[in-house]
Amino acid sequence: MSTFDVVDLIRTKRDGGVLSDDEIRWLIDAYTAGTVGDEQMAAMAMAIFFHGLDARELPTWTTAMIETGERMDFSSLSRPTADKHSTGGVGDKITLPLAPIVAACGVAVPQLSGRGLGHTGGTLDKLEAIPGWRADLDNAAMLRQLEEVGAVICAAGSGLAPADKKLYALRDVTGTVEAIPLIASSIMSKKIAEGTGALVLDVKTGAGAFMKTRERSAELARTMVELGTAAGVTTVALVTAMDAPLGRSAGNAVEVAESVEVLAGGGPADVVELTLALAAEMLAAAGVDADPAAALASGRAMDTWRAMIRAQGGDPDAPLPTPKHVEVVTAPASGVIQSLDALAVGVAAWRLGAGRARKEDPVQAAAGVTWTAGVGDTVTRGQPLFELRTDTPERIGRAREALADAVVIGADAAEPGPVVLERIATP
Ligand code: URA
Repeated sequence: MSTFDVVDLIRTKRDGGVLSDDEIRWLIDAYTAGTVGDEQMAAMAMAIFFHGLDARELPTWTTAMIETGERMDFSSLSRPTADKHSTGGVGDKITLPLAPIVAACGVAVPQLSGRGLGHTGGTLDKLEAIPGWRADLDNAAMLRQLEEVGAVICAAGSGLAPADKKLYALRDVTGTVEAIPLIASSIMSKKIAEGTGALVLDVKTGAGAFMKTRERSAELARTMVELGTAAGVTTVALVTAMDAPLGRSAGNAVEVAESVEVLAGGGPADVVELTLALAAEMLAAAGVDADPAAALASGRAMDTWRAMIRAQGGDPDAPLPTPKHVEVVTAPASGVIQSLDALAVGVAAWRLGAGRARKEDPVQAAAGVTWTAGVGDTVTRGQPLFELRTDTPERIGRAREALADAVVIGADAAEPGPVVLERIATP
């Protein structure tokens, strides 16, 4: 491969120019190998933040990231595969009930997930609240579980798109995370390398999402759908609301408990609605004609959940950890809840110990926030509204501060808004 002068490439992008395919491939390889420095890639990321990547540059950039690592292959499985990716929200436990529902309908779900950073929780952190459950599986164990159980939720190995690991960490500390081409290539390089046949993207929008506006969320969704489709993965995106948190819990064990309620046929209406909407998209994208609501109602999804937890060392019947301290926050007024701020709830759960500030930090399995009422519900001043759960009571004051203005109560009637706002697929 030719070599280039990285400073020339940075100047090209800084001045609004376009990089050639060879230049992009060389840059990603050289950065992954360490011959292009962090400071140089940081300058490039900032230039991309301002000038973007065009319709030819972006797929080349994404493919170059994929090619720095391994590609998984599920073609030996006897059923089609479908995966879901969420851009991250508060109380977003959807993966937990979704994977077993879809698997119970005959589609294999290889769900490679991450840990939480910041105010949105991580799926693996939640599942690790289940006594004995392990996130780390090698590829052979993952394939076996997909064939035998149909669903696996595990940690992504370090071999998938290593360029992204390095670049994402760099973007995190250089103010360049919020660039749509960089987000889209980061997410899609990992998902395409993972080898799923179909992919459904849950792109969150609103106060608790990292894309705050509907327009930006839809643009990110469209960009990712185009990248997936171009790579031969049937890709569909739902843009979904993240102004209020999902369900009635944010944290680790509390979100597992709520997911089990959904699998048992109950649970909050918004969680059930979004889970079934995403399940229907995954089944359609995988080409399987099945009714996810029937899999839920018949108990088949619960059976698959139990098998999935057991296959990874967990005990689905073991009591979930309980916090050493629980503090109740009461409703500050009487009336109807007009809004509940997802970001405030996410920050409170994080401060209680459910999330981490640095990626090395441990999380508390029992930490989190639960709430008894949501938008449109009537409350009476003084009634219990939030429960703050933690093993370390010194965290409660800061969590209370986060929740100080989280709920708006008024006299007007209010209704929760729609969960699914828009569907984006290639025509
Ligand atoms: N999640 C990712 O994996 N990458 C990003 O750039 C943003 C969110």
